[in-house]
Amino acid sequence: MKTHYAIYGASGFGREVLPLLKKSLVKYDKNTYTISFVDDASDNTILNGYPVLSYSDWLKTSGEKYICLAIANSKIRELLQEKCVADNVQFINLSADNVTQYDDVVLGVGSVLCANVTLTSNIRIGIHFHANIYSYVGHDCLIGDYVTFAPSVKCNGNIVIEDHAYIGTGAIIKQGKLGSPLIIGKGAVIGMGAVVTKSVPAGITVVGNPARPLSKEEFRK
Ligand code: UDP
Repeated sequence: MKTHYAIYGASGFGREVLPLLKKSLVKYDKNTYTISFVDDASDNTILNGYPVLSYSDWLKTSGEKYICLAIANSKIRELLQEKCVADNVQFINLSADNVTQYDDVVLGVGSVLCANVTLTSNIRIGIHFHANIYSYVGHDCLIGDYVTFAPSVKCNGNIVIEDHAYIGTGAIIKQGKLGSPLIIGKGAVIGMGAVVTKSVPAGITVVGNPARPLSKEEFRK
């Protein structure tokens, strides 16, 4: 019986994750596994050479199943995680060849580490973390579940990032202190290019340099 691997999300990020999955499987005989995209709303039947299936059709295939939730929206990742766990689908951690990890890095299931990502030393990261290209995480950081880094996020040392936070492209987060970390609260959104110099409360969106909360008034300007 074959083992079935899938990327959940047949869109932009899913297509970026596909090469990581293909690379991770080159050591196995091609006759022992399949690769598919799984998507609940795609018009495609084939994408970059691989079939696009509904979740229910993919589940019907007999054999062990592994999936990577390659959807940027963290709330959707959480819902899909619950569905997959209920169906005994397992999660894979995917990593580009040139990812660097130093000592004592603990990563939860379902992570995606894209090309040129660096995780330095003594780092804890929860489940279904996405680190897009050229992002880094510095020493002693604590990152929650379903956290998403767009490309080129600079997350310096001693930073806590709580569940479901989204860090935009090119954001820079100032390092915290040992015993007094800089904290990005649960579900906070850090805008593209923001320079974050102090902790951000849960659920808040900050933008700019230095990063400040995005109010409706500022947005209209
Ligand atoms: N999607 C899905 N199930 C869901 C939510 C989203 O299959 O419950 C798919 C959606 O149809 C789309 C992809 O996930 O093809 C998400 O793509 P999008 O362009 O929104 O974002 P990306 O994660 O690629 O940046």
